[in-house]
Amino acid sequence: MASSMNIAGNQNEESAISGVEVRNIDDSIGKGLFATRDFKAGDVIFEERPLVCCQFLWNAAYGYLACDFCMRPLETAEENARRLTGNAALTLPHPECCETKKAQVVECPTCDASYCGEPCRDAAWRQYHKTLCTRSFTRDESHPLVNLQETWKKMHYPPETACIMLVARMLATVRQAEDKEGAMNLFMQFCHRTVNEEEEIAHKMLGVQFYEQLEVLRKLMSDALYTPDVHQWLTPEGFRSLIALVGTNGQGVGTSAISVWVRNCTNLDLPAEEHEKLDQVINQLYDDLEKEAGCFLNNEGSALYPLQSSCNHSCTPNAMPGFPCDNFDLVMSATQDIAAGEQICVSYLDECALERSRHSRNKILRGNYLFNCQCARCRSEADQPDVTSEEEMDDEEEDEDDGQEC
Ligand SMILES: [Zn+2]
Ligand SMILES: [Zn+2]
Ligand SMILES: [Zn+2]
Repeated sequence: MASSMNIAGNQNEESAISGVEVRNIDDSIGKGLFATRDFKAGDVIFEERPLVCCQFLWNAAYGYLACDFCMRPLETAEENARRLTGNAALTLPHPECCETKKAQVVECPTCDASYCGEPCRDAAWRQYHKTLCTRSFTRDESHPLVNLQETWKKMHYPPETACIMLVARMLATVRQAEDKEGAMNLFMQFCHRTVNEEEEIAHKMLGVQFYEQLEVLRKLMSDALYTPDVHQWLTPEGFRSLIALVGTNGQGVGTSAISVWVRNCTNLDLPAEEHEKLDQVINQLYDDLEKEAGCFLNNEGSALYPLQSSCNHSCTPNAMPGFPCDNFDLVMSATQDIAAGEQICVSYLDECALERSRHSRNKILRGNYLFNCQCARCRSEADQPDVTSEEEMDDEEEDEDDGQEC
């Protein structure tokens, strides 16, 4: 890969790929990530920057303030808490536990994009923002990029799982890359789907009108970003593939100034009594947040990570991704000992879905990722009946309301 490409992910290429390698498993499973040395539970397996990352559009529209490049929170924990509780008079103790550096926040000189610092503003400009800058501080609906975002928002309501601007950033990255073919190939390494599967994913993302909606989005994307360099991604087939690519490979990224503040408060070295008081303040804060903002507490977006996306699912995962830097830097850690040669697997299911029966787990996996799990746990539970208990029947009903909660 040319070092001049300025893609966020290229800077960790050398350091990240020691201790793991991507291998082809077989035609049905495709690729997988394997350990080339032993890891102990708790070890960092690799760290990775995404090729592109983008905050969800409704998340941004509701005032969740994150760096337009790396998703780092731009509000202080106190500002964050005031906004999310609707209480403008709220004060948080121990402001030193908040890590947001407001003084370093910078804006794009010609549009309303904000960044956590100059390095992010410069990196975004070099990689894609030169192409995507709307050069206007007002949201001029007639601007093709603004139109694209508003149209997407009407097709994809919260809870959000994908963002059309991730696709726009991919196109702009290729357009701005010196080695355009190399940049395109970087994105093409992500998992590929058959035409039928791509349609199923588009259907899932956009609903029953997905044929028409895909065409509307493709036209808007072409109006905004067509050049011969990206022609192949703007044909009906190419565009559908891109939507399917971000739909299945996009990894959720969540950041929160409050979470960082809470984490640092918890680690404070205080007398027991003071710590207890602080814990009460934190518990009260979470109660107030829940009343006002429900479960929408984080800056949320999605990103494309080549190594992370090569990790297959297992219902007994041995690794878990996290975002300890409170930005888009992903850290994959071992959740149990892993021996050299073993496959590194994560769970595509959240914790409560992972507790469910083989039947329920596979229903979710089929619906969202189009596969039936063949992991050791699923094989050992192969003789479990498909639907039995009342709880499972309730699950079925919940699933119809699209409920995937515990
Ligand atoms: Zn940043
Ligand atoms: Zn701009
Ligand atoms: Zn399984």
